[in-house]
Amino acid sequence: MDCIFCRIAAGEIPADVIYTDEEVIAFRDINPQAPVHVLIIPGEHIASLAELPEEKSVLVGHMVDVANRLARSEGISESGYRVVMNCGRQGGQDVLHLHMHLVGGRQLAGSFG
Ligand code: 5GP
Ligand code: ZN
Repeated sequence: MDCIFCRIAAGEIPADVIYTDEEVIAFRDINPQAPVHVLIIPGEHIASLAELPEEKSVLVGHMVDVANRLARSEGISESGYRVVMNCGRQGGQDVLHLHMHLVGGRQLAGSFG
């Protein structure tokens, strides 16, 4: 298994895990871009949004629910935050395991760099 996020999900690589349930795992980004920078990933390996079968799109809704919940527990729900999913090379996706970034705790600038 050469997918780094699968290895984190399996507990083979350490990560600062802050939430887990039957579907997803959330852990702090190793290179945080803001005071709060959390990655929410499915336990199941899905390479990207482009690889997400329509019958599994409810999974992304659950990831949004978890992001909202973590925004509250991280104390950024009121101040505001951003959720981002990069898809593919030109979309800026580096790790080919579906993930949602939850970023906040500072003023964020325009998002379409
Ligand atoms: P992408 O550019 O694919 O949307 O974002 C991948 C993110 O994963 C980056 O923000 C990067 O810092 C983070 N990341 C890459 N490898 C690791 C790792 O081994 N552990 C953690 N916690 N984050 C990682
Ligand atoms: Zn994976």
